[in-house]
Amino acid sequence: LSSKLPDVGTSIFAVMTQLAAEHGAINLAQGFPDFNPPAALTEALQRHTLGAQHQYAPMPGLPRLRELIAAKTAAVYGVPAPDPVTDVTVTTGATEALYAVLAAVVQPGDEVVVLEPAYDLYGPAIRLQGGTPVYVPLTVPDFRPDWERIKAAITPRTRLVMVNTPHNPTGAVFTDADWQQLAKILAPTQTFLLSDEVYEHMVFDERPHRSALQYPELRERAFVLSSFGKTYHATGWKVGYCLAPPALSAEVRRVHQFVTFSVSTLSQLAIADVLGDVASYDYLPAFMQQKRDLFGELMRDTRFELLPSEGSYFQLARYQRIAPNEDDVTFARRLTTEAGVAVVPVSAFYHNQTDHGLVRFCFAKQDSTLRAAAERLRQL
Ligand code: PMP
Ligand code: GLN
Repeated sequence: LSSKLPDVGTSIFAVMTQLAAEHGAINLAQGFPDFNPPAALTEALQRHTLGAQHQYAPMPGLPRLRELIAAKTAAVYGVPAPDPVTDVTVTTGATEALYAVLAAVVQPGDEVVVLEPAYDLYGPAIRLQGGTPVYVPLTVPDFRPDWERIKAAITPRTRLVMVNTPHNPTGAVFTDADWQQLAKILAPTQTFLLSDEVYEHMVFDERPHRSALQYPELRERAFVLSSFGKTYHATGWKVGYCLAPPALSAEVRRVHQFVTFSVSTLSQLAIADVLGDVASYDYLPAFMQQKRDLFGELMRDTRFELLPSEGSYFQLARYQRIAPNEDDVTFARRLTTEAGVAVVPVSAFYHNQTDHGLVRFCFAKQDSTLRAAAERLRQL
């Protein structure tokens, strides 16, 4: 069989989680919480498990859930509500939404602008559609978009620009000025926008999360993605969604119906029971900020140097005081196997494995887990 992705290995998240399990390491590598979803959500799931709705959900998602997503979007971002009938598509995690958007819009030979470091699926998923990822690096070490370079990367062949804020893996957050710049750059083009906002509720220090939906010139060309896996500490449920204008959503649905057809009915029913309650997500910025701050405090007694994290549940760190000349992959593996704490090397987020000597920690963990990890890291 001739591979369509011959140069692609197993995703770094799977690799590090397996290595962590083999060595009994504390897993601060893969991004997932080690605590449960809110009780209201798991109780709702239990209730529905005993109910009567166990068959296929409607292809674009349960109508009630789509209505709640639309209403929540309008309330949180102060924008006109997306039409739940035409603009909201429930997907199997943001992962399926990413795939469906790329399959829907990228034609062979198209270029897609990707800001690096980038979530590991972006490049391969573009290439599977016959597209060419055009990588533009974020600035180092503060990981800001360089709008001049982004503008220069856009050609008549650019079908799509992909952005992610709050950003995985760096924790950087777009400002209003960033979005304004992007709107200005895209205005004279036919280019679509994919805005990956799965960490929309994890933004710290009183910063707002600004959504592409708040910029009308962007919204009309945007696919905006979110994930209930992140918002409800339920990454294993694999429920997310895509918001886009009717003509764009119609194309996403053409793909979605032939990838999964529809999303788990029970999960959608349970999420619909809690989503109307603002309290089910408005505590998240303070909740995750407390974890970031606790982790930062605990790490002060180690020889790691933390970079700032403005959002997401990730934190980058330099390790040169511990291992001055080691590449990030070797260091991440050794940290997992010898020190018992798993992390992700940041080079895994670059198509050409650019190594800035950084590793990523996930701090969406119980305080006791963060303390136990820091105790191990203090020995280094
Ligand atoms: N985009 C980004 C930036 C992510 O970090 C993740 C989660 N790892 C996803 C998309 C995928 O989300 P989901 O788990 O809902 O498929
Ligand atoms: N988004 C998570 C991360 O960045 C992991 C998702 C996955 O394992 N595919 O760690």
